[in-house]
This record gives sequence, structure tokens and C-alpha cells, in this order.
Amino acid sequence: MSITSTDTIAVRAGIETDTQHGAITPPVYLSSNYSFAGFDEKREFDYSRSGNPTRQLLGQAIADLENGFGGIVTSSGMSAIFAVLQLLKGGERVLAPHDCYGGTFRLFKSYAEKGLIEIDFVDQTDSRALDDALAKQPKLVWIETPSNPLLRVVDIELISKKAKSVNAIVAVDNTFLSPIFQKPILLGADIVVHSTTKYINGHSDVVGGAVVAKTEALYEDIAWWANCTGVTGAAFDSFLTLRGLRTLDVRVKRHAKNANLLVDYLSDHPLVEKVYFPGLTSHPGHYIAEKQQTGFGSMLSFKLKGDVEDVKSFLSQLQIFSLAESLGGVESLICHPSTMTHAAVSLEEQAIAGITQNLLRVSVGIENIDDLLDDFDRSFNAIGSQKLAKKLAV
Ligand code: PLP
Repeated sequence: MSITSTDTIAVRAGIETDTQHGAITPPVYLSSNYSFAGFDEKREFDYSRSGNPTRQLLGQAIADLENGFGGIVTSSGMSAIFAVLQLLKGGERVLAPHDCYGGTFRLFKSYAEKGLIEIDFVDQTDSRALDDALAKQPKLVWIETPSNPLLRVVDIELISKKAKSVNAIVAVDNTFLSPIFQKPILLGADIVVHSTTKYINGHSDVVGGAVVAKTEALYEDIAWWANCTGVTGAAFDSFLTLRGLRTLDVRVKRHAKNANLLVDYLSDHPLVEKVYFPGLTSHPGHYIAEKQQTGFGSMLSFKLKGDVEDVKSFLSQLQIFSLAESLGGVESLICHPSTMTHAAVSLEEQAIAGITQNLLRVSVGIENIDDLLDDFDRSFNAIGSQKLAKKLAV
């Protein structure tokens, strides 16, 4: 029976496949190497950098969720992106969003500075800028939607079509939504990349990544480079990530429910200047998000009315939200992109991408929503009183 529903794929991947003992959960194969059956008789696996049964199971599960041919599990999201970059020959061009994840920005920029690639960072919501950059014949078009941290949404189907007309490969970083809410390959992408550190594992206890390729040829090429450069993921990390993947569907839906309620609260708050969330009809990418996503996700950003001192004060009052980088774990996190996730991006480049000192990014967890709202309420009330006291003192 072929299973196509994402929730069932995630739960059932590798279940009851152990022929030796009939274990329900597939065992973790920690062995670094495997014996040959005889002289020149290699078995399916020989050395764990090249292939590992536990890692293979996770890679195939993510590929099945993303409707791709195969998945390569890597040691981090960054090494997944690094593996994709190996598809390029020297001097070939990459077109990437100007507001992509800071680590991606740093990798592409550093490769360009070394003369290994040419790079154009463009606002992909600006169709003229996009067309101008495509006219330079990039080999790889990188998409990250919704983007980090401002949740800009771009049309994957439209950009993929345009990219195909110049024979570019399209890769989408789908970390923010997971395959439960967005399936880029069905929208025309050739490659999907994940930082599995985030929603796919979902428990903030593994750093990992994955590349899913639409075709066998692309899969073979990237898998070859992943083995060659040694960026493949560890077996135990794969085991934990597969464990996390089983509950992906229920987790992301609960995350999203909480995010919607938090957005309602923030949108009405007098100390909030602006909320960035694709689920808001006022969000410029709302209708594209509605078309290509099956959920709005649970990442949101907002600008506090005030300066960096108010931001510090707000953050210091929080008792439930942890001040931390990363996202997609069951616990709620808040971060200050300018000094944290995007610190590798110069202040000038941050300004171009719209990252200001009063911007905060939230990864909404699955705690009880009343506790999350109370936590924000307490902090807002504290800075509200401080602001009033300052005004009266003047
Ligand atoms: N892509 C996105 C959208 C991210 O947010 C991150 C990390 O935050 C990465 C890629 C890199 O992943 P990792 O930290 O697992 O290397």
C-alpha cells in the first residue's frame, strides 16, 4: 500500500522493518564500518560517512514528505547548504534573497569573496530586480520563504518558472514551514534544504540538516559531494531526528495555533509598532502564502515602540520565553536578530534587509497559550510603567 499522507509518512517511517528481532522502532546503527560479505563483496553499507542505515531511513522519510526522489542527511543546516553549493562550477552565479538567514548570507558572500562563485543578493519580491538578476544567467536560484526574520513571502512557482527559462537550478530553504505547511518541489523547485535542527527534529537537542533532491541525478550528485566533503550527519543524531519527526504534524499545528493567538494579541498592543506574520491579511505576502502554504507557520517578528533600551528591558522581564537563537523547538524562544541571528550581517546590510534595533523575532512554542500571553503582558506592562515614569520625570 503506498502511503501519501504526510502525517502517516512521518509516523511510520521505518516502523516494523527490523527483520532480526521485529523491533517496532528501527534500531540505531552506531557502527562506523561494516564487514564485507567476502572478498570484493561489499554489502549495502561499508563506511558510515558514505552510508548509514539510520541516516538513510531519515533521509528517505524527509524526501517522502517533500515529494522528492531522495534525501541526504547532513551534520547541520549549513552543511546542507554547503553540499548544494558544490553543484556549482567555479565562477558560476547564484541569485539569493537579500534577507536570507545570516549564515547562508555569510557562506555565499565568503564564497564570492574568494572568487569561487558570483553572487547577487536581491529583493525577490521586487520583480524588476529579480528579472535583472535572472538576466545574468545564474546557475542556482536560492529561495527562502518565509524569510528570516521578516517573514517576507515569495512566489515559489513563479520564481521557479522564471529560473527554468534561464536553466537555473532552484533550491528552497523550507526550514520555517516544514513539509507539513509547504512543499516546494510540488511548486517547481529542484532542491529543498532544511535545518532539521528546527521543526523537523523539534526538540532543540540536535543540530542537523537535510537536502532533498527532486531527481535521481541531482540526488546522486549531492550525495557524492556530501560523502566527498564529509558533511553527512551522525547516526545517533539521525535516530533522534527521526524520533522528533514522528510528531512533526501535531507539533507544527499546535505551534501555529499558538502563533495565531499571539499575533492577535500583539496586533492590538499599543506598545507594538508592527507585527510581521504572513497570516495577517495586511502582510504583503499574505495571498501568496495562502496560495502556496497550507499553514502560516509559527515564526513571527514584531517591532517594539521604543529604542534598544526598551527592547532590553522587555526581554529582561520575560520568564517563559527564552532569549535564544534557533527556532522550531517545542519551547518558546525570542531573539534580537540584529545582535544574534544576523550579527554576521553588517549593520548597513541589516538596514537594507529591514532589520532594526527594535525588531524581535519569536519562535512560538507549544506551551499553554495563556502562559505565553501572560508572560508578554507582564513584560509589556513593566516597560509601559517605565516609559510613563520617564515621561513624568521630564
Ligand atoms: N536556514 C535557516 C532558515 C535557518 O534559520 C538556519 C539556522 O538558524 C539555517 C538554515 C542553518 O541551520 P543550522 O543552524 O542547522 O546549521
